[in-house]
Amino acid sequence: MEHLKQSIREVPDFPRPGIQFYDISTLFREPAAFAEVVDRLARRYLGMNIDAVLGIEARGFVLGSALAYRLNTGIILARKKGKLPGPTISESYSLEYGNDAIEINADAVAPGDVIIVVDDLLATGGTASAAVKLVKKCGGLVPECAFLVELPDLHGREKISDSLVYSILQYAGD
Ligand code: AMP
Repeated sequence: MEHLKQSIREVPDFPRPGIQFYDISTLFREPAAFAEVVDRLARRYLGMNIDAVLGIEARGFVLGSALAYRLNTGIILARKKGKLPGPTISESYSLEYGNDAIEINADAVAPGDVIIVVDDLLATGGTASAAVKLVKKCGGLVPECAFLVELPDLHGREKISDSLVYSILQYAGD
């Protein structure tokens, strides 16, 4: 899997000084690398009776919709606050500076639905844990959250304590 790192562009000091940005749009542009990532996720979740994939705006939509197609499920869009027409449910989470919130349509998850939450990258875990809370508010279950990249030094998986966390690539010690 480590060879996939060659397909991810590393951008120092973006969007702010001191942040190493992992730009996975370069991997999405490469057919073999993109297929390998989606195939790996699909193999993991096929046969688990997943009801839907939840993708987190915006790069989570790309991975999430490809995975949902392979699993023969639909996809739920978790969007930044104010983008979805109502009724919605909302969950706020803290950023390095201030707060943000994500929303889903209130009827997107039925009680008992088994959902895989997908995003491109797990950093502090605030975004993904807010997504898990949204699913649970509706009575859904999240057995696992899946990411292409994890930054383990930021301990995001500890914030997602009630679900398993799966990541394809890890960048530690940056
Ligand atoms: P967090 O809530 O801290 O886990 O942040 C995860 C979200 O922010 C994901 O949707 C990522 O796309 C984005 N993100 C955070 N840090 C980075 C980074 N170093 N490189 C690329 N995307 C990032």
